[in-house]
Amino acid sequence: MTSIPTGQFITRSAEETFELAYGIGEAINEPAVFLLQGDLGAGKTVFAKGIGAGLDIDPAEVNSPTFTIVNQHDGRMRLYHLDLYRIAGGANEVYDLGLEEIITEPEAVVVIEWPERLGAFAIPRAYWVTISDSGGDERNISIRYEI
Ligand code: ADP
Ligand code: MG
Repeated sequence: MTSIPTGQFITRSAEETFELAYGIGEAINEPAVFLLQGDLGAGKTVFAKGIGAGLDIDPAEVNSPTFTIVNQHDGRMRLYHLDLYRIAGGANEVYDLGLEEIITEPEAVVVIEWPERLGAFAIPRAYWVTISDSGGDERNISIRYEI
């Protein structure tokens, strides 16, 4: 079973956030979904890069791309990285992205930035990661698992 830490964390640099997420990525050995909440610039993509690195994916390849909403990276497990910022949102649009197939794919890890855009598209058994900027380079990171 995957043992992913939950609770409250404080990081004081992008590297510390990366390291926290890296540890989580390293611990993953079964499918998991991470929903990353936080304002622009909070550190969601830094966190996604850390998870990717922990799955043996080059973090430089994990970006928030301008035109693609879904990115697939193959490491120790497959990583789907979604940034929903640019979609209007709602269950229909999300469904059209193929998210239903993605989240039910065996052996896949899914990381979603801007899960607020999911609307009524509920994702059960996911880790909710909320990153808030507490001034300067300090971030408060809450990780909780919701059934
Ligand atoms: P988001 O994806 O949430 O819009 P990014 O991860 O792209 O945000 O960017 C976060 C920015 O904040 C980066 O420029 C990063 O270097 C900076 N930063 C400063 N301190 C931290 C921290 N503690 N954790 C994460 N990022 C930080
Ligand atoms: Mg981002």
